[in-house]
Amino acid sequence: QRCLALIKSTKFLNAYITVAEETALKQAEESEERYKRGQPLGILDGIPIAVKDNFNTAGIETTCASNMLKGYISPYNATVVQKLLDHGAVLLGKTNLDEFAMGSGSTDGVFGPVRNPWSYSKQYKEKSVPKSHSEDEESGWVITGGSSGGSAAAVSSFTCFAALGSDTGGSTRNPAAHCGVVGLKPTYGLISRHGLIPLVNSMDVPGILTRCVDDAAVLLGSLAGHDPKDSTTIQDDFKPFELPNLTDVSKLSIGIPKEYHAPGLSSEILALWSKAADLFKNAGAKVVEVSLPHTRYSIVCYHVLCTAEVASNMARFDGLEYGHRSDMKDSTESMYAATRREGFNDVVRGRILSGNYFLLKQNYEKYFVKAQKVRRLIANDFVKVFRSGVDVLLTPTTLSDAAPYMEFIQEDNRTRSAQDDILTQAANMAGLPAINVPTALSERGLPVGLQFIGRSFQEKQLLTVAKWFE
Ligand code: GLN
Repeated sequence: QRCLALIKSTKFLNAYITVAEETALKQAEESEERYKRGQPLGILDGIPIAVKDNFNTAGIETTCASNMLKGYISPYNATVVQKLLDHGAVLLGKTNLDEFAMGSGSTDGVFGPVRNPWSYSKQYKEKSVPKSHSEDEESGWVITGGSSGGSAAAVSSFTCFAALGSDTGGSTRNPAAHCGVVGLKPTYGLISRHGLIPLVNSMDVPGILTRCVDDAAVLLGSLAGHDPKDSTTIQDDFKPFELPNLTDVSKLSIGIPKEYHAPGLSSEILALWSKAADLFKNAGAKVVEVSLPHTRYSIVCYHVLCTAEVASNMARFDGLEYGHRSDMKDSTESMYAATRREGFNDVVRGRILSGNYFLLKQNYEKYFVKAQKVRRLIANDFVKVFRSGVDVLLTPTTLSDAAPYMEFIQEDNRTRSAQDDILTQAANMAGLPAINVPTALSERGLPVGLQFIGRSFQEKQLLTVAKWFE
């Protein structure tokens, strides 16, 4: 009830698209009953959790923040949603995002932009629940980052204890960094994507947003593992783990990739990054500079692969099976066309067009196949570095703290989202686990985070290091 009240009083953040008040209260009551009767409790029993609105939820609308899916109610739960419920969690509602998770600001959804709760702490300096919208409206509130901005704002404003996001190029880690929360992108294949409406199937992973690293480990433990409904999930059983209190980091080797000194990296974040490296060094860890030479091709390569997969994924939205259907009755063809024009925003339509271009017979080898080869080179860079004995990589998560909304929307959103993913995106190319850990406040009093990238399926090691650092 307190979470629901807080969701109401922070409505101006626009973090939620749907609040499932009735079912949430019912789930909470059932949990209380289990507790009273002394029944065995699930690891998430009674814990209020929010879910990004691109995961299917039976009986609760799933919109992807798009006109195309407004009013769509899935007949089934995404595997991760079902797992949350099976572990006793209370599903509070569905959180806001960029349309179909395409973006890095949470400003492009059809329900309007998400506001960063930190905008409303006086001078951004007070760590407190935001109070009202009006006092800051004129002075320029800041974005949450995206595309899982609703989930990050929901955790950061204390309206839930954890939230699910998705991460294709940085969409969990980027908003986590801007909102001062933990954001975990697990190894590709560790958590089922069944019921997550796809953006780039070969890179999408469900993401976990929490207030601390320990909570992320608990969520991971309840969500990870094989799913017969997602053939890309690992076959092995996943053993949930508790994080040890690491006291000795002297056996660790921390890699600092030199290519992450990207153009546009703010001096504040650069200083924070070196300070963090020193912290490990002073605690006895080996800190080594490493090189990931193909990283610089990652953004262009992503553009080709992403749009190609988008063109194919979006084909299903034709006005017949899901959500919106145009009134245009001239012909089936024109109904398809009108439905897609009315249903998708510019970003989505632009990507469908680019993707179809890259997939044309005469372009396929030149762009799509080549991009796949470059992707392999990017992934191999990581393999080499980890083989050389590095345990985890330490990098910034974002180039700067969160931009004011008015500033952010002035830039072209194609170049903008490319820039914003520059430090997070390569981990998706390589399928590696990575985590944002909130680290400090910027001079403006906004949260900034650092990122750890680990070896495939070595979440325990990654989270242990993150916890030590936290
Ligand atoms: N910003 C990237 C994009 O626009 C990644 C988004 C994501 O991770 N969902 O595609």
